[in-house]
Amino acid sequence: MATRAGKQASKSAKAADAAARPARKRTRKASMSAAAARTFIETLAKANPAPETELDYADPYTLLVAVVLSAQATDVSVNRATRTLYQEASTPAAMVALGVDGVARHIRSIGLWQGKARNVVALSEQLIAQHNGEVPRDRSALEALPGVGRKTANVVLNVAFGESTMAVDTHIFRIGNRTGLAPGKTPRAVEDGLMQRIPADYLREAHHWLILHGRYVCKARLPECWRCVARAPCGYPDKGLPAPIKSGQASD
Ligand code: SF4
Repeated sequence: MATRAGKQASKSAKAADAAARPARKRTRKASMSAAAARTFIETLAKANPAPETELDYADPYTLLVAVVLSAQATDVSVNRATRTLYQEASTPAAMVALGVDGVARHIRSIGLWQGKARNVVALSEQLIAQHNGEVPRDRSALEALPGVGRKTANVVLNVAFGESTMAVDTHIFRIGNRTGLAPGKTPRAVEDGLMQRIPADYLREAHHWLILHGRYVCKARLPECWRCVARAPCGYPDKGLPAPIKSGQASD
């Protein structure tokens, strides 16, 4: 059992350790103003007037399967897998007939393939049993499908059914926080912030603009602010940093 003196010594050691650490800044992320948020999204919209998902799909079912497969995988790798998968099975009935091992044969190159193969077959069975083989246009019915969470339901509702939903993936979560567009500690907090902040006339397409912007310009490790069309309204403190000099390039 620890003695009183021992406990006191441990407390003092912890206090000394804390004092030795550099003080952590307790800054709250500032939110972008409503006017800046409109300019930000309008600027992205002007640069890409007709944004589309980069996943290949033919109908709500093939979109749903592609989105389920895309968790922790790139769209390019998912498209490579679905190209051959959909040649064999592009309906819930065909997917069930193909079975877990058959699905797995096509998707082995993408992350978490074993669980995804099970989910794709299980959700296809559920679509047949409960929804006549159709993808339901209903959030809770979608989220009740195996492997389908809020983000996937949001993508399907938006892309397949034209609803103004906001699917917060890693890119949108980062942009919401980095730029001040919708700071939040969780994807749901960022989603709610974006739904409030983005003007209604831009909401339908906004998640495409933000995902593509995060994927190609406002990148995770080094945002390419020097070539960003939305730099003026962005609240990122380091947005003024110049482009890094490539090796072999002369500097003056
Ligand atoms: S200025 Fe930089 S941080 Fe801001 S949106 Fe553009 S790339 Fe991202």
